[in-house]
Amino acid sequence: MKYAIVNGERVEAEPGRTGECPCCGSEMVSRCGEVKVNHWAHKRKRDCDTYWENETEWHREWKDYFPEEWQETVLKDEDTGERHIADVRTGDGFVVEFQYSHIKPEEQRSRERFYKRMVWVLNGSRRKTDSKRFTKGFEDFRRTDQKGIFIVPFPDEAFHKAWTNSSVPVFFEFEECMGAVWGLLPGRKNGYAISLCVSKSQFVEFARSGKLFEKLKEISGNSKT
Ligand SMILES: [Zn+2]
Repeated sequence: MKYAIVNGERVEAEPGRTGECPCCGSEMVSRCGEVKVNHWAHKRKRDCDTYWENETEWHREWKDYFPEEWQETVLKDEDTGERHIADVRTGDGFVVEFQYSHIKPEEQRSRERFYKRMVWVLNGSRRKTDSKRFTKGFEDFRRTDQKGIFIVPFPDEAFHKAWTNSSVPVFFEFEECMGAVWGLLPGRKNGYAISLCVSKSQFVEFARSGKLFEKLKEISGNSKT
């Protein structure tokens, strides 16, 4: 994790420090080396956030586009007491989760149920063939009169199948196209999906200004198939 609690404050890992986990309250130690990004780890292996994925530079870079106080927000289900650490929770209460590696379908659905108002940002090039597949699938995309918005007749042909039935918007970042993200919106109109391409900076700007979800809703509503 990027933050632990030290003397009541959220601080980043530095060599030789200890702190408390903001999620479960147990002891954490700093891990600072050359291979992985500086981070905090639980001193004893324990069940904390079952969703937690080891952080990479990719995660850090994405998180750091957002204000510090939005990063690693602990959220609790009041009924069950279940707690998770959202990668980013925007000022208007939406969660952005960054997923670099494979995730089991059950966990994917579980996170969507837990956070409800969320979007995914995925490493779109996890497998060697993913970008190629997208390029091929893109040939069937139909442009609309709105810039960057496309109608997708066969979403399964372009995007990773594990994500095409997601109940929330999913954004893919492909290696060949690092300046932009491709979003796939949930729901289908006459069997067709809506996709939008926005630059990374636009995505961040929408999310930071609290307009991302308004924007996505507007797009789903306006796109005629
Ligand atoms: Zn913990």
